[in-house]
Amino acid sequence: LPPEKRVGFALVGLGRLSLEQLLPAFAECRQARPVALVSGTPDKARIVAEQHGIRPDALYDYGSFDRIRDNPEVQVVYIVLPNGLHHEFTLRAARSGKHVLCEKPMANTAAEAAEMVQACAAAKVKLMVAYRCQYEPYNRQATDLLRSGELGRPRFIEAVNTQVQGEIDQWRFKKALAGGGALPDIGLYCLNSARFYSGEEPVEVFARIDNPKNDPRYREVEESMAFMLRFPSGLIANCACSYGAHESKDLRVRLEKGWIDVENAFAYEGQSMRVARRAGRAEGIEELRLSQKNQFAAEIDHMAECVLTGHTPRTPGEEGLQDHRIMEALYRSAETGQPVAL
Ligand code: NDP
Repeated sequence: LPPEKRVGFALVGLGRLSLEQLLPAFAECRQARPVALVSGTPDKARIVAEQHGIRPDALYDYGSFDRIRDNPEVQVVYIVLPNGLHHEFTLRAARSGKHVLCEKPMANTAAEAAEMVQACAAAKVKLMVAYRCQYEPYNRQATDLLRSGELGRPRFIEAVNTQVQGEIDQWRFKKALAGGGALPDIGLYCLNSARFYSGEEPVEVFARIDNPKNDPRYREVEESMAFMLRFPSGLIANCACSYGAHESKDLRVRLEKGWIDVENAFAYEGQSMRVARRAGRAEGIEELRLSQKNQFAAEIDHMAECVLTGHTPRTPGEEGLQDHRIMEALYRSAETGQPVAL
């Protein structure tokens, strides 16, 4: 689409993700463009607006946010704030009659997520959760292969998302702003991927949390969680996430007649994929090379496409709500030491 016909997005919160990934990704979008910014730091907002050709009268702060209703150029509000603020700003955006693209995790709790789904339905606006991996070509290809049945019955998914998380003065260590620790921030990729790869919903979950002793960062939120999801077909997903282990973001599927390994499955880039197939007694291993696409651009364009066509996003609010229900079951399991049925 020519720039003036593209769907206009307002970015809310100019932190690392917005500045380093999303604003650059708009340059690769075909259906979307940034037309407004919402920030608590006016000097930064002015500079960023200038860099991206956003009009100086399309800058808002958190107090004046609701005036966005009077800006017809804004069709989608993209919420990129700390998790604990997603609920409030989704409700305010819906009341302003704007569609909402919300960063993951969708909220702090399942109750908040349910309210967000209801508010957007009542306001007749779309709500999408930014599960970027579902728009990334390697993950899509692996999902198609798993679901095609070519490799037989899937038995195990193994998903790991770890990174070392740094200093204490971040909202990610405050429960009110983050909702939790490694689980909602990075373990969510393992959980969401196990669901979208398999196309099944878990019927039982089990989790263990471990926190280092005497580390003040982990007074409110967890450092590490290992968890298991059992699906109706018998498939089991074994997942692990941690703020205390060196970066690793891989997903593996073990099936009856082969396996699929996706390296860097949850990373911004650098994905690769190997597939093993049993053929008689022999095993062939294939290394797949797909063209690298900017997954943030794909995700943003998908939302724009839904606005243009009236379709429901592939990852709607209900998808985020279901992950929150499962995460609450995981915390319950970790607390009681027992499996939790869903
Ligand atoms: P940052 O801390 O880098 O940025 C958050 C921004 O929110 C701040 O820069 C600030 O922007 C604004 N803000 C408003 N109120 C507060 C507050 N009370 N405390 C701190 N910041 C506040 O976070 P990220 O950009 O890393 O994360 C933002 C969201 O994006 C989170 O929900 C996170 O989970 C998600 N995320 C998703 C990723 C993905 O791959 N999909 C990757 C990274 C993050 P300003 O100065 O403009 O007001």
